[in-house]
Amino acid sequence: MGIGTHTLMQIQSRGKSVPSLPASRGWPAEAVAVVARFRVAFRREPDALAYAPGRIELIGNHTDYNGGPVIGVAIDRGTWVAVAAREDGRACLSSTQTGAVAVEVPAIGAKLRRQTGGRAWANYPLGVVDALEAFDLRGPPGFDYLVTGDLPLGSGLSSSAAIEVASALCFLQLTRQRCSRVRLAQLGQRAENHFVGVPCGILDQGVSVFGRAGHAVWIDCTRLKFQPLRLPAGVQFRVFNTHTRHALVDGLYAQRHRECRQAAERLGVRVLADVTPAALDRHEHRLTAVQRARARHVVSEIARVQAAAKAMRAGDARSLGRLLLQSHASSRDLFENSTAELDFLVEKLTALPGVLGARLTGGGFGGAVMALTDSSFSPDAAARLQREYAARLGGRLESMALAAGGGATPVNPGAKA
Ligand code: ADP
Ligand code: MG
Repeated sequence: MGIGTHTLMQIQSRGKSVPSLPASRGWPAEAVAVVARFRVAFRREPDALAYAPGRIELIGNHTDYNGGPVIGVAIDRGTWVAVAAREDGRACLSSTQTGAVAVEVPAIGAKLRRQTGGRAWANYPLGVVDALEAFDLRGPPGFDYLVTGDLPLGSGLSSSAAIEVASALCFLQLTRQRCSRVRLAQLGQRAENHFVGVPCGILDQGVSVFGRAGHAVWIDCTRLKFQPLRLPAGVQFRVFNTHTRHALVDGLYAQRHRECRQAAERLGVRVLADVTPAALDRHEHRLTAVQRARARHVVSEIARVQAAAKAMRAGDARSLGRLLLQSHASSRDLFENSTAELDFLVEKLTALPGVLGARLTGGGFGGAVMALTDSSFSPDAAARLQREYAARLGGRLESMALAAGGGATPVNPGAKA
């Protein structure tokens, strides 16, 4: 149930205040569906309703915590949250996407406890309640909560940021508070970092909040600036998820963080984004071979992100595609966070008609590859690749056709469908 970009733009075009759709125009089908499900689950109407999309990391692999820029794309799939206030201080949370393990929290005002096991999904919305308080905003008094959507969970499209941002929009609506879009992204990030316990950067939530149909989002991770970048006409995206994950992935991320930090220290800078390629050439003798490779990746990747923004401003899809391929080679050879599966896919995709570029997307060590395609790319080619992958590597390859969709938005449930 991909959100119609057209409909979503109608919602967004109503400005910053909570949009109130004229009944004659109606809600997108997805909003109608989430309200219907909410009524069934709680036998009442929701007071707040919001949508937030998932995202693709377009280019900028491991640049964020090194202080560099990154470019993401909000996709035309996402998450809907509906919420109604409760006076008794309880929170009742339900999802259509987690095998329906509902979670009840008896006193939302008290210190929130982390949920475990099959209830752990509720840490994402509960983490947002916790983050509101940490940011001196009021949390909701008590609430009934339903989440649904068409984003696959854990497929590298950041369903976690989507649920956080949509939840935050609903809680703000419920408590009649407002905050800036940057703050909204930070609320989601804080929930994930502090409550869920995943040390992600601002990419996922920033793109979900600042996404725009037909555009990518440029993020300056140091200054927290977000800018739309128009995508070259006619480009589309394919994400191939391998559903593989290196057993030691958390430790490997931590190790990469450490190597980057140590390289920056030896180069006498705070973060690697402060090193120019020329300065790295001059001073790389101070680094170990491993630090040198990591620093080379980060510094060259930052230059590629900048070149990608330039290519987009010029409407140059081919150059953008080439940069994606270079990015993958750098992740593979210098950052060493690719895998045989991801390399196989990038190599095969490169040879297919209509593929402008492809690279691993997200943290690496398993996960997904994204391809930038033009209209000549055929779904049959994707299906053949899935079969070849299964035959050669013996796993299930998920293939998703995606377009750049709109960013997160609240919808006024007072304006009935
Ligand atoms: P990704 O963000 O790439 O999808 P993560 O592991 O970061 O993968 O986040 C996925 C987790 O987020 C799920 O396992 C679940 O706990 C939670 N989540 C996201 N969306 C939903 C949803 N609609 N319903 C319930 N839980 C969700
Ligand atoms: Mg995530």
